Amino acid sequence: MNIFGWTKERLAEALKEHDIPRFRADQIIRWMYQRGAVSFHAMDNLSKSLRAQLAEQFSIERPKVVSRLHSADGATIKLLYEFADGQTAETVLMRHSYGNSVCVSTQAGCRMGCAFCASTLHGLQRNLTAGEIAAQVIGIADFLRQEGARVDTIVVMGSGEPLENYDNVIAALRLLHEDYTIGLSYRSVTLSTSGIVPGIERLAEEGIPISLSISLHAPTDALRSEIMPVNRMYPLADVLRAACMYAERTKRRVTYEYILIRDLNDGVREAEQLAKLLRGQLASVNLIPINPVAERNLFRPDKAVIRRFQKTLEERHITATLRREMGTDIQAACGQLRNRLMEAGL
Ligand code: SAH
Repeated sequence: MNIFGWTKERLAEALKEHDIPRFRADQIIRWMYQRGAVSFHAMDNLSKSLRAQLAEQFSIERPKVVSRLHSADGATIKLLYEFADGQTAETVLMRHSYGNSVCVSTQAGCRMGCAFCASTLHGLQRNLTAGEIAAQVIGIADFLRQEGARVDTIVVMGSGEPLENYDNVIAALRLLHEDYTIGLSYRSVTLSTSGIVPGIERLAEEGIPISLSISLHAPTDALRSEIMPVNRMYPLADVLRAACMYAERTKRRVTYEYILIRDLNDGVREAEQLAKLLRGQLASVNLIPINPVAERNLFRPDKAVIRRFQKTLEERHITATLRREMGTDIQAACGQLRNRLMEAGL
């Protein structure tokens, strides 16, 4: 039985069945989540016999790092984790001036089918478990601890659609919030979704104040359905209504992500339509020049076009920031690293 990913309560329950007292759960859990222990043998505040007993009943299994890429400027590290069944997912550490941010994946592959995204090229393999999602962050926290640093923020923006794996994602965030793991503040978490309306509504009622980001990428249903098939199920009006409700309920500003793709959604007309769509909302737009994905034949607009798009929004009183790019030299776009290794037969 792999205990990595368990809460302290669950571990205490399981120990009780073996007549092991509750305070042992405290000790074991800290070894596992705060001291990087991957075996019971390392836990030297437990007796030898207890360690042997634990090792017979339980195991601590963490995903393996099978690839690690450092950007030339040292600010970004991209990891590829491999799970027990051979599935893989990417995790990214970004060192900002305001702290260390980790981008986590929630699924191996993705079934959303967005035209610009590398994660979905091979479809969905499976949901990641809560333990597998949390392990991506704990692994990086272990690494940062050696240099006296910590994980400050989490962006749930890696591969997969988090709201299609709702229970495991929330369980992972709740686990990471515990003071016996990394004591993550919910306010330092941003979850990005392609617009799964029932999931957004459920999240609004969850009672954890995380920030929501919506991948919009087009200002009309016709264009959005063309590049994001999910829009046929949950059209723009419904997504915006759910997002507004989320902002009201949580008092947190919703961010709309908008990838700029040359000659597809980058015109003044689209900027005007977008401004109209978002008028009067507690919202801001994050513009992301596309990371070209060779398989998709989609390209980045010229700088002048990007600036014109941003200016058009600002003139209409919509806050629009240009995403700072990191790690473009290390397969930064979602799913790129994984695909490269999958195609190499790894
Ligand atoms: N499924 C969720 C979270 C994963 S995608 C979602 O759709 O939001 C995280 C962000 O990366 C999304 O805004 C997505 O649109 C963006 N993204 C995907 N492929 C990209 C690419 N090639 N270039 C730039 N951003 C990309």
